[in-house]
Amino acid sequence: MRKHTLKMAALLLCLVVSAAFAKVRVTTTTTDLASLVSTVGGDLVDVTSLSRPIQDAHYLDATPGMIMRISRSDLFVENGFELEVGWVPEVLRETRNRKVRPGGEGYVNASVSIQAIQIPESISRDQGDVHPSGNPHYTLDPVLSQQAARNIAAGLIRVDGSNRETYQKNLERYIEQSNEIAQKWVQKFEPYRGAGIIIYHKHFDYLLKKLGVEVIDAIEPLPGLAPSAGHVARLISNYDSESVKAVIMEPWHDQRVGRQVAQGIGVDLVVGCPTVGSCDGADCIVSLFETNAGIILEAIKKASGGN
Ligand SMILES: [Zn+2]
Repeated sequence: MRKHTLKMAALLLCLVVSAAFAKVRVTTTTTDLASLVSTVGGDLVDVTSLSRPIQDAHYLDATPGMIMRISRSDLFVENGFELEVGWVPEVLRETRNRKVRPGGEGYVNASVSIQAIQIPESISRDQGDVHPSGNPHYTLDPVLSQQAARNIAAGLIRVDGSNRETYQKNLERYIEQSNEIAQKWVQKFEPYRGAGIIIYHKHFDYLLKKLGVEVIDAIEPLPGLAPSAGHVARLISNYDSESVKAVIMEPWHDQRVGRQVAQGIGVDLVVGCPTVGSCDGADCIVSLFETNAGIILEAIKKASGGN
């Protein structure tokens, strides 16, 4: 009897192992993209993000671990719009896995066919602008992320055509679900349409745009450039709780500056969830959107004196 149980356990283990071997190995640069890969790929994929949720993907360094991870991948997905320009080119140069380099069947730039906002009129990268190709943080909007999910589905189908139907079905379900959720929150924000917000980095702009909230100013004078004391003082003197309903920032920037601006204006500082996995409950692209929309709405309601 016992022998039989052991045999069964071994059989189950083998089944798990063989299933793991059959999975498509995917590496992404961010947890947001990893979430989209899981959404489209389900249990057919084994996905890893090179950055952790609380890391700012603008500023990672290429490591041997990243190169090793990519060398074993069937598919590599990057965000694009130069978010990873400081480290991904080096990782791809160092890997021997030609399949996952640009032009290879295992390479996906998730931003293809997405229209970036805030494309600068003149390139000011030398002044610290880390958004020279426009705002790269489109995954904060789950509807805009549908195109990234389409690009990912196309990549999965290229490397694993036998599961085409499953990928397409999962993609369609995501499109339907993200449309529903976005619509629900746009309606909740309707009474506050046009409310003013001050941001730190331009991280949440796609989300704020989707919700009909207006970005009035930024604590960073240019994306990637730290604010001077004079710039902070100007924000406080230029705005009040009539023109601005909240200050929102990322957890990896100096929260003292955010607090100073929010207190000076007389509104709440919202520390948003910048990526999937960075806050409790923000476990996928759709719940990331819901979490951020919820805390922003609360701050705007409070500043508007309503409920
Ligand atoms: Zn950025």
